[in-house]
Amino acid sequence: MYNPKSHVATEFISDDEIQDTLAYADANKENAALIDQILEKAQLHKGLNHREASVLLACTLPDKNAEILGLAKGIKEAFYGSRIVLFAPLYLSNYCVNGCVYCPFHGQNKHIPRKKLTQDEIRREVIALQDMGHKRLALETGEDPRNCPIEYVLESINTIYSIKHKNGAIRRVNVNIAATTVENYRKLHEAGIGTYILFQETYHKASYLKLHPWGPKHDYDYHTEAMDRAQEGGIDDVGIGVLFGLDKYRYEFAGLLMHAEHLEAAFGVGPHTISVPRIRPADDIDPDTFDNGISEETFEKIVACIRIAVPYTGMIMSTRESMATRRNVLDLGISQISGASVTSVGGYAGTDRDSLESNQFDTSDKRTLDEVVRWLMELGYIPSFCTACYRAGRTGDRFMSLCKSGQIQNCCHPNALMTLKEYLEDYASPETVALGNRVIHEKLTDIPNERIREVVGKHIDEIAVGARDFRI
Ligand code: SAM
Ligand code: SF4
Repeated sequence: MYNPKSHVATEFISDDEIQDTLAYADANKENAALIDQILEKAQLHKGLNHREASVLLACTLPDKNAEILGLAKGIKEAFYGSRIVLFAPLYLSNYCVNGCVYCPFHGQNKHIPRKKLTQDEIRREVIALQDMGHKRLALETGEDPRNCPIEYVLESINTIYSIKHKNGAIRRVNVNIAATTVENYRKLHEAGIGTYILFQETYHKASYLKLHPWGPKHDYDYHTEAMDRAQEGGIDDVGIGVLFGLDKYRYEFAGLLMHAEHLEAAFGVGPHTISVPRIRPADDIDPDTFDNGISEETFEKIVACIRIAVPYTGMIMSTRESMATRRNVLDLGISQISGASVTSVGGYAGTDRDSLESNQFDTSDKRTLDEVVRWLMELGYIPSFCTACYRAGRTGDRFMSLCKSGQIQNCCHPNALMTLKEYLEDYASPETVALGNRVIHEKLTDIPNERIREVVGKHIDEIAVGARDFRI
């Protein structure tokens, strides 16, 4: 039985409800009158439920599809402006006791060297990341209670926050580790993590069981209920996602939105972010083995429909995607991208000469952070290194009410400009500096509140002569 408030996985992600939703969407994919009604509701910028959004995703009418993309762009512009937040993943350990068939870290893979960073190696990795200009990380580990226990993750977070090198600082550490207990989530919360991220991989239970044939991750219910335990442990910023390519995308889309509705219904706050990873080639993995790959056009439509359905939820795209794909979907709803990512353990500082052979997957976008930052500005975006909300305690529903109040332009926009100025002063190439200073000068005038505009202008001058870490 479908019950979004229930804490039982198969009730808030009810297979019957998803099948029924897909049948409803299929029956109405050319129903222009219904699609118009849904689009009208979406224009209020208050989101859609999984059934309505699934109709938009299934829609085959070209003119309505053009409207869907246009609406997504409008919502993106209204809620996020032209800011794109940047981050990098940091792989701590690739030991893993799970059997995920799409991931080369799976426990039976004998080709890849296994590695866990020491605290000294973490220091070197973090300094390499700081020297590129990164301020926000996503920690990644395989699941292995013996080689990579929670105490190691906590110690590593502590190390990362403590590293000060030149003007560098990691100001927000998000964590993408395996589903765990309420007690461990509480410890992560106390260690000061930003978002806890966990991908569902697939919401389809039968496929999930086949794709995760052994190891603790085989337990679908435990995995699917992870965010409930994270909330119970005090983490109110959680990030969800599926690995597109494993199962049918329309099923996954409905599942993702039902998960978001469940978090809203049960805890009063939806997910902080939704990630949209697609499966990539990796050591012993050929993505063509999975026959649910999606075209570029479908990928764009998924991003647009998520943007319309959950306007307040950030959307993350990684370097799994190429520069061309990233360009095409940025304005449809993406708010965060990774830059200059390395998916091996120890790959940033090159502390391990084997490290590049232990990539989790092949990245598609291999540009430097400076190139990504300049490219974003050339496309009209403002690259942002902002971490202000989390540091000011604006998490969970407090962050959501900031979004809903429309104050983002007086808050996130100024913070984006100030953190971009820091980046230009400390890390950028002369070409990026020249363009960046022009962008900052132009975009300052977009701050609606006159007093805030003046304060930010003053701070930007102060950053030019050495001051750091201002925030609104
Ligand atoms: N081990 C933890 C887990 O599985 O939840 C978290 C870290 S894992 C390194 C991060 C994510 O990488 C996984 O959730 C999975 O979706 C993704 N991934 C694994 N293999 C991949 C592949 N071949 N291509 C793209 N993404 C992949
Ligand atoms: Fe291990 Fe995560 Fe890879 Fe699965 S996806 S094998 S749990 S690292």
